[in-house]
Amino acid sequence: KQIYKIRTSWDYGQHIEKESKEEYELADKEIIDALDQNNMLIEYQPKIVAKTGELAGAEALVRWEHPTLGIIPPNEFIPVAEESGVIFKLEEWVIENICVQMNKWTKSGYDPMPVSINISPQHLCKDNFSNKVEEILKKFQVSPSLIELEISEDALIKDADTVNANIQHLKKQGITVTLDDFGQGVSSLTHLKSLELDHLKIDKSLIDNITTDKENGVIITSLIQMAHGLGVKVIAEGVENEEQLHALVEKNCDQVQGFLFSKPVKTNDFEKILMSKVLQLSSIVKKKREYN
Ligand code: C2E
Ligand code: MG
Ligand code: MG
Ligand code: MG
Repeated sequence: KQIYKIRTSWDYGQHIEKESKEEYELADKEIIDALDQNNMLIEYQPKIVAKTGELAGAEALVRWEHPTLGIIPPNEFIPVAEESGVIFKLEEWVIENICVQMNKWTKSGYDPMPVSINISPQHLCKDNFSNKVEEILKKFQVSPSLIELEISEDALIKDADTVNANIQHLKKQGITVTLDDFGQGVSSLTHLKSLELDHLKIDKSLIDNITTDKENGVIITSLIQMAHGLGVKVIAEGVENEEQLHALVEKNCDQVQGFLFSKPVKTNDFEKILMSKVLQLSSIVKKKREYN
């Protein structure tokens, strides 16, 4: 109800006015309640090794199962959580929940699999963020080598010193750091080099017309070459059809992710993917490999 008001103002792109401070406080409370009442859930979307079709890992994506409004997607409530400050609590919950799930999968005998977690710029600007992550991983005994944090470019221009220190400490722990949504915003390759980021994720908007826009295809080709030159792995998000996949395999993209393989799914459905390891759709990639 309360969040609905905020959703509406976001929907219409309106500026939140004075009175909304109270609205935010209410939204804040609603999000905390949702965490306490298990109304937040995490879905997992497979990431695939482009050349072989093998499972490379998963991206964790949070959803709010609102008792009356139904599923609220992250793009609607994360901005509210960021504005109100409840994002810190929410993301700690997300990281802990993922650690618990990873331990469950290990206990069930599945091979260890890297999981990517999206981190808000706000959180990355917080002094003790990297320590907090270290603490949580220690508490749940999850190997940092299995954790990949996806950060967006806006984080890198916000509070350079703190963000830089956090990133370096995360990397020191053995955590993989990925630049998410590349091609959506400022998109400068200098961050990759100066911060020694590990992975680069090309935004869906660039992948959408990879086969239809020749110049776009050329940009992606050189982007991948440049990233590889810097020792950075490249992931493509939002891969929806075989033509896009083939173009990406041809351009030596390392990993692919998108509806072509699977939508983000709940944990029990993800276990089916873990069991098969090589997705059925990987036959598409195999076919391609045989031709070459
Ligand atoms: P993102 O990190 O860029 O995640 C990719 C989004 O694209 C996801 O949307 C995913 O469901 C969607 N997607 C994946 N493959 C395809 C495809 O082939 N076609 C199309 N049309 N969409 C695809 P989702 O789950 O709604 O998440 C939206 C954004 O919310 C994420 O974008 C991420 O920035 C943010 N987000 C999600 N979970 C968290 C979280 O725990 N913390 C923070 N700070 N942000 C989160
Ligand atoms: Mg992401
Ligand atoms: Mg992304
Ligand atoms: Mg994106």
